[in-house]
Amino acid sequence: MLPIRGDKKYVPNASGGIRTRSSGLFMGPGRGPELPKAEEPKVEEPKKKRKIKRPFIYVLVCILALTLGFTGFKLLYDPHMTAYQVLLDGFEIGVVADASQLPELFGTLQDEKEQDIGVPLVRDQELTIEPVKVMAENVASEDQIESNLSRYLTDTVEAEGVYVNGQLAVVTQTEEDAQWVLEQALEPYEQIKTEKDVKDIKFLENVETKPVEVSYERVQAKEEAYTTLTVGSNEHQEYTVKKGDTLWSIAQNNDIRISDIRKANPEVSATDVINVGQKLDLTVTQNLVNVQYVETLTREEELKYETEVQQDDTMYNTQKKVIQEGKIGKRQVVTEVTKVNGVEVSNKVVQETVLEPAVNEIIAKGTKEPPKDTPASSGGGGTSASGFGWPTSGPLTSGYGTRWGRLHAGIDIAVATGTPVYASKSGTVIASGWYSGYGKLVKVDHGNGQVTYYAHNSKLLVNTGTKVSKGQLLCLSGNTGNSTGPHCHFEIRINGSPVNPMKYLP
Ligand SMILES: [Zn+2]
Repeated sequence: MLPIRGDKKYVPNASGGIRTRSSGLFMGPGRGPELPKAEEPKVEEPKKKRKIKRPFIYVLVCILALTLGFTGFKLLYDPHMTAYQVLLDGFEIGVVADASQLPELFGTLQDEKEQDIGVPLVRDQELTIEPVKVMAENVASEDQIESNLSRYLTDTVEAEGVYVNGQLAVVTQTEEDAQWVLEQALEPYEQIKTEKDVKDIKFLENVETKPVEVSYERVQAKEEAYTTLTVGSNEHQEYTVKKGDTLWSIAQNNDIRISDIRKANPEVSATDVINVGQKLDLTVTQNLVNVQYVETLTREEELKYETEVQQDDTMYNTQKKVIQEGKIGKRQVVTEVTKVNGVEVSNKVVQETVLEPAVNEIIAKGTKEPPKDTPASSGGGGTSASGFGWPTSGPLTSGYGTRWGRLHAGIDIAVATGTPVYASKSGTVIASGWYSGYGKLVKVDHGNGQVTYYAHNSKLLVNTGTKVSKGQLLCLSGNTGNSTGPHCHFEIRINGSPVNPMKYLP
């Protein structure tokens, strides 16, 4: 072996030989003697070798790294780690690594909530803890779980519900409070009882109270519950009147009834006048309960009388006589008025009692045809334009005018004693008695300053104050007073002065 080594020309240069040797790994042996010449092929060969080997090494390294990494990953994040799923009423609120303290924590949270609201909670939430296998990254911290427990902790309490038509309307803390609310709602109507005859005060709706388990947030103080129940609890909505607005347009645009605007704005309701810039309350208050009651009203009413007409064949058909004066009677009417919140919705008469009966008016009406014969001078009956008619029929024996130096203020109609004398025109008897010169006299006032005189009668048949119609029997003629024979002295006076009756008679 040595001689072989001796053959090698590298030996003498020991240091260089070593260097060469060390680098001979790449250069290869036997190439030493001719360094410059042998360099080119020597350099090229190693280059080719590297190109083939490097990728292979990288792949190996990568595989190694990945294998190591994957194994490490697998070791650190085991998807099958054991943790505890926390459920509240069956709903998952998180997964924790250690659940041993949770039941106590939950109890503490409930205690705190109770202290907070001051009312015992209905502890009906079920906390369930179940072991599960989860990815570690899905495990929540204890703080997160506590926060979730707090968030989903309900505040259910036992309270008293006021139900209106089966719907839970308001909730009070106690049954006493609920009863107070209902009594308070009826109270104003109970008050009316002291002044009026009121009965059957009750809610229009089916209203009842019963225990309820609700969130404490629904529980109202009794005064608040009363307001909600009777006044409504809507938020106030304000509106500022703009130019061109009318109550009608505001109602239309805001989907509200005009009556509701009037109700919420008493200052508008009287006149319906609104001004630009004025603020209106557009709140619609819808009370949950309405109170109905029945008010009994008693009133007195007049009873009108009837008029009965009786036929009387002793009188002329132009004559009428009141036999019985009519009298207005009185009756009591009892009405039951049903009101809701004080507003009448219906009424019915339940009783009618006559307190004073009405007295019918009875009038006698003549059936006899009036005499057709008329004073000879008159040429017939009938009525003049002035409305006067002849008082009786007979020859005219003396006319109106100056006679023997004196004024004869009327006309004389010669008739036998006892002949009927009738009213010349309808009017009122203003005198019926003895008058100097006239004897038994009847004066009838016809209005408009017109008065007629019927003198020298034998019998007077009417009294002062009696209303007479034209043609009505006044008296029977005669020869009383300053008279020279039986006749009817007839005068017409206008505004106190005698006029010639012939100008007025038909
Ligand atoms: Zn005369």
